[in-house]
Amino acid sequence: MDCIFCRIAGGEIPATPLYRDDDVLAIADINPQAPTHLLVMPIAHHANIGALSDAADAALTAKLFAVASQLGRERGANGYRLVMNTGADGGQTVDHLHVHVLAGRPLGWPPG
Ligand code: 5GP
Ligand code: ZN
Repeated sequence: MDCIFCRIAGGEIPATPLYRDDDVLAIADINPQAPTHLLVMPIAHHANIGALSDAADAALTAKLFAVASQLGRERGANGYRLVMNTGADGGQTVDHLHVHVLAGRPLGWPPG
């Protein structure tokens, strides 16, 4: 399996970690859609939130959201948005679970 986020998490592709522990990594999105656009991902490969749910790793799920919301709170004085695109219709382009953290401008609703 050739997964770009596994390669980043494994250090094969350099990236500046904004947060890292044994379970979770946060990096800046390469193509930011807002002044703050971060990606928070598990180090372990899970294709999407459904796969993580199937794996029933409640601790990892909780940590993923805790890190994402903490980064949002730190960077989004007026609020922030967490997004998990899932599958083709959900707009997912990298099949390694990640939470987008968007902040720094008013975000429209509904999304595209
Ligand atoms: P998705 O479309 O799967 O919800 O989100 C994938 C995100 O990963 C996109 O916002 C895209 O800009 C970002 N991305 C893709 N490749 C790379 C990369 O090599 N490095 C970083 N930092 N972000 C990436
Ligand atoms: Zn992966």
